[in-house]
Amino acid sequence: MMEEKKCPQCHFTLAKLQDIRRLGCGYCFKVFADELAPAITGLQKQALHVGRKPQMSIKSQTDQLTIQLKKAIAQEAYEEAAKIKQKLSLLTEST
Ligand SMILES: [Zn+2]
Repeated sequence: MMEEKKCPQCHFTLAKLQDIRRLGCGYCFKVFADELAPAITGLQKQALHVGRKPQMSIKSQTDQLTIQLKKAIAQEAYEEAAKIKQKLSLLTEST
């Protein structure tokens, strides 16, 4: 059974988000957070690999990303927030 998720604020659907590759409004990020993450996994895995500093512990990376995520959301940079969220989930997966 496929239930179509829809943003209650801007009425974007997941299909629409994937089509135009950006969010309709701030609320979309919350509604589609789970769906957005896997969509950018490949990209982010690469980016994370390159950008990873070996001296930095997972914990401090996670803390930094959490701060960045809050900032991004506060600035309504939801694409950025989605990327950060993905990085976070990759970090926590690898522990
Ligand atoms: Zn929306």
